[in-house]
Amino acid sequence: MLEVRRIQTCYGNIQALKDVSLEIFEGEIIALIGANGAGKTTTLMSVCGLTPPRSGDVLFEGQSILGLAPERLVAKGIVQVPEGRRIFPNMTVLENLEMGAYLRQDKAGINQDLDYVMKIFPILAQRRTQVGGTLSGGEQQMLAISRALMARPRLLLLDEPSLGLAPLVIKQIFDIIRKINQENKTTVFLVEQNANQALKLAHRGYVMENGRITLTDTAANLLDNEQVRKAYLGL
Ligand code: ATP
Repeated sequence: MLEVRRIQTCYGNIQALKDVSLEIFEGEIIALIGANGAGKTTTLMSVCGLTPPRSGDVLFEGQSILGLAPERLVAKGIVQVPEGRRIFPNMTVLENLEMGAYLRQDKAGINQDLDYVMKIFPILAQRRTQVGGTLSGGEQQMLAISRALMARPRLLLLDEPSLGLAPLVIKQIFDIIRKINQENKTTVFLVEQNANQALKLAHRGYVMENGRITLTDTAANLLDNEQVRKAYLGL
């Protein structure tokens, strides 16, 4: 579904990504793990064109998506949940969710999806008239994921959904990501520093160090890998 082909991405003179290649098949949950500053967010931003690679290519279903405007990507079904959630703080929960569906015209489908996200995150139904900025961190993350779901993503890009959240909330959010993957066949590309949780959720994983992919395997094998256990799982 997605193929990242030898991309190099720079911030001025700093080369953040060095020859990064990876592939994601339809229906998979892929985790990209690595230390702070390894280049995980840059990889995600390069995929959705926010930090365009200097060379290499990004293909979605065999076609290059480099240089496409964000709304073109959303129309293709590629939807991102950025790090730090970035919901609209002055809009209500319901308005935030409606913003997620801004490219859609199918009112019945939109209402059906509103019901779906409020069913998987019942707290959002309770808070539907509350402004986003007053929600807790976990609730904002739920809202950010739900807003993305309102665009009916085929490929959901998630940047550190666990960041700053309590373990119980992380579990709840990761359980829902699994459910979304299973029920809607949504493909998930998950960037996470929380390697343990991410690999328990994912089918396969990539390990990133200093701007390069250094290891890739099934998530189960990565959880068992001595090097990964020492460096990322604290075992
Ligand atoms: P984190 O988990 O902290 O977000 P990360 O693995 O996502 O880390 P990136 O944020 O992609 O890493 O950063 C990769 C490298 O690029 C780092 O050396 C970082 O300092 C640098 N970098 C990231 N954003 C910028 C920027 N806007 N300007 C300059 N350098 C940047």
